[in-house]
Amino acid sequence: MTLILDHNKYYRLPWNLPDNAISWLEVTSACNMYCEGCYRENNPKGHKSLGEIKHDLAIFKRFRKTDGISLAGGDPLVHPDIIEIVRLIAQDGLKPIINTNGLALNRELLRQLKQAGATGFTFHVDSKQHRPSWKGKSEIELNHLRLHFAEMLAEVGGFSCAFNSTVYGDTLRYVPDILEWGQKHIDIVHILVFIAFRAAALAKNFDYYAGAEKVDMGRTVYSSHHEDKQSDILSNDVVEVIRTRYPDFEPCAYLNGTEKADSFKWLLTGRIGTKSQIFGYVGPKFMELAQVSHHFRNDKYLAYTKPSVQSRAKMMLLLAPVDRGIRMTAHNYLRSVGRDPFSLFRPLHLQSITIIQPVDILCDGSLSMCDGCPDITVWKDQLAWSCRLEEQMKFGCFVRAVPKQDMKSRNEHGSTLREQVERSR
Ligand code: SF4
Repeated sequence: MTLILDHNKYYRLPWNLPDNAISWLEVTSACNMYCEGCYRENNPKGHKSLGEIKHDLAIFKRFRKTDGISLAGGDPLVHPDIIEIVRLIAQDGLKPIINTNGLALNRELLRQLKQAGATGFTFHVDSKQHRPSWKGKSEIELNHLRLHFAEMLAEVGGFSCAFNSTVYGDTLRYVPDILEWGQKHIDIVHILVFIAFRAAALAKNFDYYAGAEKVDMGRTVYSSHHEDKQSDILSNDVVEVIRTRYPDFEPCAYLNGTEKADSFKWLLTGRIGTKSQIFGYVGPKFMELAQVSHHFRNDKYLAYTKPSVQSRAKMMLLLAPVDRGIRMTAHNYLRSVGRDPFSLFRPLHLQSITIIQPVDILCDGSLSMCDGCPDITVWKDQLAWSCRLEEQMKFGCFVRAVPKQDMKSRNEHGSTLREQVERSR
């Protein structure tokens, strides 16, 4: 039974195609590692030139207001001009966020990136990466590596520090362990992201078409190797497993799917606490206020708050009159201070947890994307979903999935996303 979450209780993030918190800039398709679940074919010669990158930035500027630019790839740190790229973005008044496996990062490079204007890092660390010296390590053991990166960032200072992990059927149970680790380091770890594994291989009941031409989806990197892996994990499943350790865990905001209003493609949670205790979770009004006030002041939605703001969560408790989540958090916090008055002098931290449920293929062949996709990139001077760019590269357009069986017999039962996704397999 899938955990039911009521989307009406949460704030629907205001992000959309021309006005979004984040955009996704792929500076290279070269990578120094192989990760299962990667959406991009590794091309060691795939660095974009500075001219091409400037052009992509100009396309973003023309079509989309944005606060942060996720530098992605491949691994952006293997690009020989990464410092200059970061500088270019920062000079444009945007926040450069580096999405990396961290392998190429060292303190010297980190200092240079900070000088160039880098705002934050999102480290991809999970157990299905073929990471030298960490092969065969569990998600729990990998927390040591996560800590290594978080401490490196904290030492240089001023960076937003995020970790993302792809979640597979056999690693879903470790999500609470990563969350518990995140709580122990809530002072230096600001964001945890869990991305449900997806592969087009689930759709063996479909033919794929690019325009009028039937195509072989096996040619795309996200379809060929993963028939054995569960690829229908929902955000709801991730919340369910988190609640086995944190029963009060409560999201506050979401992006729905383009085909399903009540699906959670991006599900955001903000928790407030210390290394030893989580006092509560921010509510939808808090998130609405954060997004709308940032847009009012800066004409763009908010991506990645400064670490100095996240460590001043005590101030956020003043929003108790307008937000029920903060009210509950303040109540729990004050009770705790009543028991231990010295705790009043310890800082409170805000930590964000994002769950991402990428493309879902429904039994009628529709592909449910993130409505208001933040990871939109540039392809041939247009905005395009980064998670499906291989289709553009291989077939010249996004493909359509066409069910092999007649729809009447397939559509008799089931309208929940879980039923639709399961029946599409
Ligand atoms: S639609 Fe694709 S690229 Fe956009 S946020 Fe969702 S998974 Fe990422």
